Amino acid sequence: MKILVVNAGSSSLKYQLFDMDENKVIAKGLCEKIGIGGAVTHKRPGKDDYKSEIELKDHDDAIALVLKLLTDSNLGVIKSVDEIDAVGHRVAHGGKLQESMIVTDSVLRYLESIVGINPLHGPPAIKGINACRKAMPGKPMVTVFDTSFHSTMPEKSYIYALPYEYYEKYQVRRYGFHGTSHRYVAHKAAEFVRVPLEQLLIITCHCGNGSSITAVDHGKVINTAMGLTPQEGLPMGTRCGSIDPTIVTYLMKQENLTPDQMDDVLNKKSGLLGLSGVSSDMRDVWAAADAGNERAKLALDVLVQDAKKIIGSYIAEMNGVDIVLFTAGIGENDRAFRAAVCRDMDYLGISIDEDFNMSCPRGENVDISAPDAKVRTLVIPTDEELMIALDTLNLVK
Ligand code: ADP
Repeated sequence: MKILVVNAGSSSLKYQLFDMDENKVIAKGLCEKIGIGGAVTHKRPGKDDYKSEIELKDHDDAIALVLKLLTDSNLGVIKSVDEIDAVGHRVAHGGKLQESMIVTDSVLRYLESIVGINPLHGPPAIKGINACRKAMPGKPMVTVFDTSFHSTMPEKSYIYALPYEYYEKYQVRRYGFHGTSHRYVAHKAAEFVRVPLEQLLIITCHCGNGSSITAVDHGKVINTAMGLTPQEGLPMGTRCGSIDPTIVTYLMKQENLTPDQMDDVLNKKSGLLGLSGVSSDMRDVWAAADAGNERAKLALDVLVQDAKKIIGSYIAEMNGVDIVLFTAGIGENDRAFRAAVCRDMDYLGISIDEDFNMSCPRGENVDISAPDAKVRTLVIPTDEELMIALDTLNLVK
């Protein structure tokens, strides 16, 4: 069985074609600059990458190009689109939809009705689904939501201490994001330590361009750092994470900012970029800090301290922890970040083998805990696309 996984952003569209008999990616790629030019990179294992500048007016053009490349006599990996059995779509925000589901008109109507709370990621995801429906009529499609895994949170975790009517009127509450990744790595960690997920207390740290930390208590999420939007929690590449909410109205008044301009400050000009003044990319921030840039050092210190704070708070909430794990771009690759977060956490049972942390293999599940540590600290590579493909397979089978 072959499943196409689509992750549509506002000007980009990522795709992966899976052969599910072998859980293997047979082609993947990225369409970029949709609506503002157009470019594509198409990859197949063991073969040269294909790159081209090509006009992509909209998501329909991008999907048409993806299907053309997948079936091309030279660049393709299948003979015809009929060989694709189903399509899985990554959708950041599912609102009240709590599980992966087959796309129907009513699912699409609901997703359209919640773009207000998902303005950045909702519209492009819907465009990606519509483009696929148009290009592959009748093909089963599944939506996999980043919010689903967090739907087990108790009300005391998801409610904000605002007038309750805003929750009732506008569904203002914590939803949490990166759920597909947190779910995948929590399961992988349980497999790795050979203990059922239902018997473990796990803290999953998904740290990348966007970052979130989740407390998984006996297989169920009880709290997560991101909130109504993927803004709350840790400082990120360009997002500020949690701040005193009154800063927002104060700055709007001081700088005469409109709500959209303020959103821009919070989402695109803050975080590592805003603090360091150097870059939103962790590698650049480390390089600047190593060269003596004090603001870059400060940005790293803030990120590390906030990660410690959230991990500590979840240990308190769960009354313990068996596994703390790191995943995503920073979590999997940034050894110095992992070491800094885990340093001086031995009171809580967290202690890593710093030498092994610096030399352990990349791209594999590894245990970086010190031999006598009470808590196991793991690095687990995430694979959100495989999780989406597996959910799609389960639903269409
Ligand atoms: P996204 O949230 O866009 O999927 P990723 O999970 O790919 O992002 O994470 C991107 C982040 O990972 C960037 O800040 C990047 O600098 C960081 N990163 C990737 N490789 C390394 C590395 N070797 N060392 C430190 N940081 C890294």
